[in-house]
Amino acid sequence: MSKSLVVGFPRIGEQRELKKVLEKFWAKKCDFSEVENVASELKKRHWLYQKDAGVDFISSNDFSLYDNMLDTSIMLGAIPKRFKDLSAEDLYFSMARGDKDRKAMQMTKWFNTNYHYIVPELSSDDVYKLNAKKIVDEYNEAKELGVKTKINIIGIFTYLGLSNKVDGGDVFSLFGSVLEQYAKLFEIISALDDEIIVQIDEPYFVKGSDAKTLSLVKKAYDYLCGVSKNIKVIVTTYFEHSNELTRVLVNTPLYALGLDFIYGKKNIESLELIKNSDKVLIAGVVDGRNIWKNDFTKSVELLESFGFDKDKVVVSTSCSLLHVPYTLKYETNMDDEIKTNLSYALEKLDELTLLAKIYSGDTLSEDEQKRYNQNKKDIQVRKNSKKIHNADVQDRVKNLTKLQRDGEFSTRLKKQKEHLNYSDLVTTTIGSFPQTPEVREARKAYKSSEIDRDVYESKMKAYIDDCIKVQEDVGIDVLVHGEPERNDMVEYFGEMMDGFGFSKNAWVQSYGSRCVKPPFIYADVSRPEPMTLEWIKYAQSKTNKPMKGMLSGPLTMLNWSFVRDDIPRSEVSKQLGVALSDEISDLQDAGIKIIQVDEAAFKEGYPLREENIKEYENNSVRDFKISVSTATQDTQIHTHMCYSEFNSIIKTIEDMDADVISIETARSGNTLLKIFKEHGYKQEVGPGVYDIHSPRVPSVDEMVRQIDSLLEVLPSKQLWINPDCGLKTRKYEEVIPSLKNMVEAVNIVKARL
Ligand code: GLN
Ligand code: ZN
Repeated sequence: MSKSLVVGFPRIGEQRELKKVLEKFWAKKCDFSEVENVASELKKRHWLYQKDAGVDFISSNDFSLYDNMLDTSIMLGAIPKRFKDLSAEDLYFSMARGDKDRKAMQMTKWFNTNYHYIVPELSSDDVYKLNAKKIVDEYNEAKELGVKTKINIIGIFTYLGLSNKVDGGDVFSLFGSVLEQYAKLFEIISALDDEIIVQIDEPYFVKGSDAKTLSLVKKAYDYLCGVSKNIKVIVTTYFEHSNELTRVLVNTPLYALGLDFIYGKKNIESLELIKNSDKVLIAGVVDGRNIWKNDFTKSVELLESFGFDKDKVVVSTSCSLLHVPYTLKYETNMDDEIKTNLSYALEKLDELTLLAKIYSGDTLSEDEQKRYNQNKKDIQVRKNSKKIHNADVQDRVKNLTKLQRDGEFSTRLKKQKEHLNYSDLVTTTIGSFPQTPEVREARKAYKSSEIDRDVYESKMKAYIDDCIKVQEDVGIDVLVHGEPERNDMVEYFGEMMDGFGFSKNAWVQSYGSRCVKPPFIYADVSRPEPMTLEWIKYAQSKTNKPMKGMLSGPLTMLNWSFVRDDIPRSEVSKQLGVALSDEISDLQDAGIKIIQVDEAAFKEGYPLREENIKEYENNSVRDFKISVSTATQDTQIHTHMCYSEFNSIIKTIEDMDADVISIETARSGNTLLKIFKEHGYKQEVGPGVYDIHSPRVPSVDEMVRQIDSLLEVLPSKQLWINPDCGLKTRKYEEVIPSLKNMVEAVNIVKARL
């Protein structure tokens, strides 16, 4: 009989209770005991949900007030010096968020998810000291409730591998002293019960692993498994395959290995090894990071194909359910045909336990049999749904012949420069201007039908008028309309495209208290009507300067949505590319000469494994080029990306063949400039000359220096001058002087040239 396991459970709360109480606490509107109360309510609720669903392996220590990596730093006593004089919750939240005297610790993306963790700052003179309080308390809390949990901890390799060593050198030089703390932890938890199960997460290894790190693995796990006889150790990986690690781990005294068979299909190659060992296989077959209903028939077939003894297999989620929303029960006004395809965390619990039963060959109760039959029907409906499969879209995408623009970039740029008539060091902005309270209110009022279309439009147009005036007064060369009509760069477009769905409550934690509610792409994508045309046309009619049209690109739309899993992702982004190409065509016909296709999330879709990168890049470049394929040589295509680690992808960016790209540089200590220096760059480029993420107004001098350093690596005729991202999070009081200084800096440099 096969059991079921949940790798981890979300913690923000189905009504975002944790978010709300944290923000209340940070605003000093309640004290910490209120946070603790909410946290303990949530933990209880989540344990009981899992228990009631019949899940066999339920976690403790998957909860966190902010982030599990941060919790691990606290557990180890890995506290950066600047926080040493703080204690308890002051310490914890200052590390996460900074305070008036201390910079927050760095935060970065957790593998290729949209979750962000707090990056540990380690140094050679650290002295680690175990603090097991959270782990012990949570275990006991669950036990009092009658739930005997497995204890989740982040593995030593993942912890170290994702850390920064602030004094330079290899983080793994700290391996010995950190391992000692893990061993101490094992001693402490071994006393908690007769038998304890520990789940150690080691996703670090799914990116591929070097021989040196692997050589430490056996040592570490032989040692940890030997600390106490009553601890059974599971090592879990997710998001990709980890065959290199598995080969080592089967020769250690582990109890079980957790593998992802949704995103790590190649884990299949390790099955023989595991079968021939004494290890239990924890098989992740319920997608932990996407929202689609599990296809029971397919999952059971997959499990059967492993050829294992059924009691040596535990049916599991592919990763922690942290990455999916809570429950469909609040989705009260969703189309039924769409809703039947979905499964959030709570629904996945039921899938998991039923799946384990079906696979085990247990006799199903009447209700279970009914659910199984219903699942088969739902999957069939999805396959044949007219709502999902649009033959026109499919034909068009399949028979597409125009895959890119005409002409070489150099010819195109020459033509564009002639009629756009701009000089070297031309100035522009990235698109959005400050989202004022009035603009937000107007959008909200229109959405809830408090104001009609005419009133709404006149408010937006008034904003656009002001925004144009600001830019003209400041003396910017290429203008934007300011994006007042957009709530979010993906949602805005998704709402106007066919194939996108929206939820009421599909919140997913992004970092700390911050949650996002990604749209989902459930069907073939097309664009029935123009999406930006009227706004841009209006804006252009108000100025003699060129007005830049503004779109979100296909990869960004893809990477910031939940994407259907019944066709390849690359097929979805191709459809998005085609849909966007129609918008470009309309803008161009209306006389818009410059169009920017933002690819803010281009890099987020990069695969974890080196060997898959080429394919992603090929498809991404293909679909970006399709999206701009309708632009004639005279139309200038811009793109924008908000990060600067371009070392490995600069060639790919060039291949996208945009005439102009604007990129972040200001915040990253000019690493980008080095790349330009070494690699050169073909098209025109606007490396941001100031950081918009801070309210500070940069001085003229500062920006002159920044432009000078740009000029050291690229000639002035190739350079655009702009801030490093959109201005929507800033205030006009900051934006106007900043842009004035930017233009003045350009004039100073120009006079000198
Ligand atoms: N055009 C968008 C803006 O200015 C780009 C947003 C982004 O790069 N994240 O807001
Ligand atoms: Zn940006």
